Amino acid sequence: MSEFSLELNEDQLQIQKWVHAFAEGVVRPAAHEWDEREETPWPIIEEAARIGLYSLDFVVSSFLDPTGLQLLIVNEEMSWGDAGIALAIFGSSLAVAGIYANGTTEQQDEWIPQCFGSPADVKLAAFGVSEPDAGSDVSSLKTRAVYDEAKEEWVLNGTKTWITNGGIANLHVIVASVAPELGSRGHASFVVPEGTPGLSMGQKFKKMGIRASHTAEVVLQDCRVPARCLLGGKGRLDERLARAREGKPTSTQAAMQTFEASRPAVGAQAVGIARAAYEYALDYAKERKQFKRPIITNQAIAFKLADMRLRTDAARLLCWRAAWMAARRKKFEAGEGSQSKLFAGETAVWVTEQAIQILGGYGYVRDYPVERWHRDAKIYTIFEGTSEIQRLVIARAISGLHID
Ligand SMILES: Cc1cc2nc3c(=O)[nH]c(=O)nc-3n(C[C@H](O)[C@H](O)[C@H](O)COP(=O)(O)OP(=O)(O)OC[C@H]3O[C@@H](n4cnc5c(N)ncnc54)[C@H](O)[C@@H]3O)c2cc1C
Repeated sequence: MSEFSLELNEDQLQIQKWVHAFAEGVVRPAAHEWDEREETPWPIIEEAARIGLYSLDFVVSSFLDPTGLQLLIVNEEMSWGDAGIALAIFGSSLAVAGIYANGTTEQQDEWIPQCFGSPADVKLAAFGVSEPDAGSDVSSLKTRAVYDEAKEEWVLNGTKTWITNGGIANLHVIVASVAPELGSRGHASFVVPEGTPGLSMGQKFKKMGIRASHTAEVVLQDCRVPARCLLGGKGRLDERLARAREGKPTSTQAAMQTFEASRPAVGAQAVGIARAAYEYALDYAKERKQFKRPIITNQAIAFKLADMRLRTDAARLLCWRAAWMAARRKKFEAGEGSQSKLFAGETAVWVTEQAIQILGGYGYVRDYPVERWHRDAKIYTIFEGTSEIQRLVIARAISGLHID
């Protein structure tokens, strides 16, 4: 039996060092510029592709790492560099996870490489679930997919909102309802390949944080995709719908599977932001003198830093635990995935706010990175399930009751 260990192995340490070098040398120096421009940082994505960081092989090796930790290490380092740019680079992963979780082997082989393209011709992917009237309440999706038997095509209609890479992605994975009467049990995921008529970008959002990451509406108007674009295939879908109609348990809903699996990795992104702010504030507090001595020599500041470090480390450990459990296919008994993302997100918001306080006026202006880290951190209590929804998941898991 392998003994419990929190030590990273040689490969993981190498990867951590490699990603950190890219985050420090390329991502962080570009962070301010792309935050101000509020545009997708194509040159940085291309550079990540050139060195193999944004590539099919690397993402697959991260997904398949038997310890479950590689994805978290990479996410933490990249978000330490800049969360907006990190999301611009790894935003495609949600679509990849959607195809991986719901697609057949043939579909995975066909579509996943298309999410990346090649270093000479970089591609992005997007994963669209959320809608104007269906955010936390995923069961009320209005986007419909109807099968046209004669043409063997699915016809998608609806509007998706808040979609990372929405409309600029080459490949979209869209979750739509095929059986509205079944709520979320009537959902299915579809690949909408590059250049499909009927898919267009709606408004692009101007955001508070992670502004290097593109977020927009995706409009589907009589958007037709071939039958093979239904992830999992029609046979599996018909079986699942029949079971749902008979009131039998079905595999969890398509979208939920994708989100649950990705929560510890999303938490690790928040840990990266918290660590960046903590480190910066620690250095600053040692340098900055008021009343003729470094401000860190005041307990009020030193204790803040102690708590910032404490909570950041605790958040990382919760993320690692959830990823460790998921890699060993251990069932989450107490919403461990949600615990990790909830705690990491709220920690990042709290730690970055403390960092602003430690920097005083310098923390409040854009010449210093800490106000940006605070703006970036806030999204982690909202997307991939708000903090309230994570608490709901945990509360239901520990009580065994349906809590509203
Ligand atoms: C920058 C950004 C990127 C995103 N990227 C994607 C993406 O790539 N793909 C995608 O599909 N979606 C994406 N989203 C959508 C995101 O997942 C949703 O915004 C999120 O799920 C919340 O939905 P909502 O915004 O409609 O808020 P609502 O669901 O309307 O929630 C509003 C408030 O009510 C609370 N609330 C709702 N229901 C309950 C309840 N039952 N109990 C207690 N409180 C409740 C919420 O916690 C929240 O505080 C993104 C969002 C943003 C902002």
